[in-house]
Amino acid sequence: MRYISTRDNVIQYSAAQAITQGLAKDGGLLTPFFIPKLPSKALEDIKDMAYQQRAVYIMKQYLEEFSVKELTDFANAAYGPDKFDSPAVAPVRTVDEVTHCLELWHGPTCAFKDMALQMLPHLLSASLVKTEEEKTACILVATSGDTGKGALEGFKNVPRTKILVFYPKDGVSEVQELQMVTQEGGNVGVSAVVGNFDDAQTGVKKLFSDETVRQELARRGYFFSSANSINWGRVLPQIVYYISAYCDLLRDEKLAPGQTINICVPTGNFGNILAAYYAREMGLPIDQLICASNSNNVLTDFLREGVYDRNRTFYNTMSPSMDILISSNLERLLLSLTQDPAEVKEYMTRLAQTGRYQVSDRVKSKLQKRFKGYFCDDQETQRVIRAMFERHGYLIDTHTAVAFSALEQYRRETGDNTPAIVASTASPFKFCGSVLEALGETRVAGGLDALDQLTAKTGQPAPAPLAGLRDKSVRFTQVVEKDRMVDAVLSLLG
Ligand SMILES: *Cc1c(COP(=O)(O)O)cnc(C)c1O
Repeated sequence: MRYISTRDNVIQYSAAQAITQGLAKDGGLLTPFFIPKLPSKALEDIKDMAYQQRAVYIMKQYLEEFSVKELTDFANAAYGPDKFDSPAVAPVRTVDEVTHCLELWHGPTCAFKDMALQMLPHLLSASLVKTEEEKTACILVATSGDTGKGALEGFKNVPRTKILVFYPKDGVSEVQELQMVTQEGGNVGVSAVVGNFDDAQTGVKKLFSDETVRQELARRGYFFSSANSINWGRVLPQIVYYISAYCDLLRDEKLAPGQTINICVPTGNFGNILAAYYAREMGLPIDQLICASNSNNVLTDFLREGVYDRNRTFYNTMSPSMDILISSNLERLLLSLTQDPAEVKEYMTRLAQTGRYQVSDRVKSKLQKRFKGYFCDDQETQRVIRAMFERHGYLIDTHTAVAFSALEQYRRETGDNTPAIVASTASPFKFCGSVLEALGETRVAGGLDALDQLTAKTGQPAPAPLAGLRDKSVRFTQVVEKDRMVDAVLSLLG
């Protein structure tokens, strides 16, 4: 399998190169040259396998240079019982006859980022060997919450990597900050930045392109690398769980072989729903992909009108991991729909210059055939959380609630009751405040006490990694000004 840039198919990369480089030199995203089809008996063959084995089977189709033995070791390490609190890894909960919820938050940080960030470090460190890279990868992450902790847990103590995370001092929740500053591991560093998420993100981007810093790092035996969601090594592990969920439903005879489903995904950077699209391209019988957004509904408008326009008000919502106006992974979908890197490049150039682009009628009609976009605001998000808990005793987080709202809107509008799988992306205990309010609590406890309050209210225990934060000691207290981030990098590297 060769990989190309979404903006140019002349230069081709191996999988290991794609994973170590993260981004193509021309700014495009490294993407498989074609999407492999599953053999016709594949779903029958893997439906009785464990999640780890399914992951090997599916990932192998994209990673020829990796042996089955290697991938098996990675999958066992990434998705073992010491990491995930469910033996199913990504269990499917049936809500009603035609609605199933794929829970992607049973990993060490209680958000769906773990599904990929537990696997990526193994892929990356093996890729460093395969590409004969001698330096240590210094992974720089700017985070608004979930990604930073997910990357820290994934990369902790992984040989030949160092991971440094920057978060905005006043831009993350108390639980999220505690999760990061108590991080264990010998190769990790965490620093707060005075400013907001954009300041941290801009600072990290500057570090990546600073030639003096690059040379100083090289002198110390390091090079910068990235773990953000445009790395192919993060998209690939996400394809697995959609296929796996279908297999679970087949195995449990809730679906008949070949039966069509719809998939609904709460979307920010478009990575998670893109993986569902690729699962469909591989042959999973998916009809509609329902793209759920919060008030930052740039994707809803794009899917309806064929115009992507980021020139709009930015809202801070109670589903903060979807507060995004540039959905980077959309670029890979555009390549698949156009099959023309030159056309993708044109759209991306326009986006960079004007913040807006309009796709051709051909692309628009392909897009609308496959995707439906819906959004909801915070009030609707809380209504859905409450209704789901009252009707089904099922506690969901704010991001998942946005997805259930979108599915409801889709069904009401179209009358299409095809069985649907909804991706559930975070534990409700990560967003205690909003969830408690949704359930009618008017006074929400501060810090970790909110976990107990949610347990008292619902009778459900907090996930161990969050409850365990109480006993962890704070290891990182550094706060840097946004233009001094380089000092933090050098001091954390030692
Ligand atoms: C990252 C994240 C999302 C958005 O996923 P994308 O792949 O960026 O579309 C949704 N929900 C939660 C909880 C997340 O952490």
